[in-house]
Amino acid sequence: MTFADLNIKPSILKALIKENYTAPTPIQEQAIPAVLAGRDLFGCAQTGTGKTAAFAVPIIQLLSAQTGKSTKLRQIRSLILTPTRELAIQISDNMKAYSQNTDLRCLAIVGGVSQAGQERSLEQGTDVLIATPGRLMDLVNQKVIDLQYIQILVLDEADRMLDMGFINDVKKIISKMPSNRQTLFFSATLPPEIAQWVKSLLVNPVKVEI
Ligand code: AMP
Repeated sequence: MTFADLNIKPSILKALIKENYTAPTPIQEQAIPAVLAGRDLFGCAQTGTGKTAAFAVPIIQLLSAQTGKSTKLRQIRSLILTPTRELAIQISDNMKAYSQNTDLRCLAIVGGVSQAGQERSLEQGTDVLIATPGRLMDLVNQKVIDLQYIQILVLDEADRMLDMGFINDVKKIISKMPSNRQTLFFSATLPPEIAQWVKSLLVNPVKVEI
């Protein structure tokens, strides 16, 4: 199996080759076709399995197919929520690498740094936002960020977001998005609270367990 077998377009393939990704990992093999087909997804997977590219690559492909050359109307069309600053920056760096030959923009918004700088970056426009829940909630409350254009939501490490007490922020953030979006949910463990949440949030999901 190759990334080309998964119908990844040449501009993204070129970036993956540059990253020395020769073949998809098992989670990528299963998740990429499901995400490209517009399905909701529940991925039970740890970090280290290649789960970032499993969601990032098909998101880049779907969004870049929409923008074409008219990127004037840049809106946040995909939101990736993750528990820590380190993970957000890592996901953002990976996304930027995979999308380097497309016209998509990715931006990480995390706590613990000046909000003014983040507001200036947001004014430039972004297609993909990678965020930790606390700072995102602040910016949504202040109406600096509008979530009404979100088409694809990713919850990364949902069990850790629950453990860290972010669940109410995450639920409030989700309530600001269109309900007809695509949702991709990743968690390394499946405690009852997470199982319940998966059930209420995902519509007929594809399940991938690694
Ligand atoms: P992740 O689980 O997303 O944190 O990825 C773990 C590591 O595997 C990261 O360093 C990725 O850059 C790398 N990686 C992800 N997918 C592939 C692939 N298909 N081939 C080689 N390395 C990969």
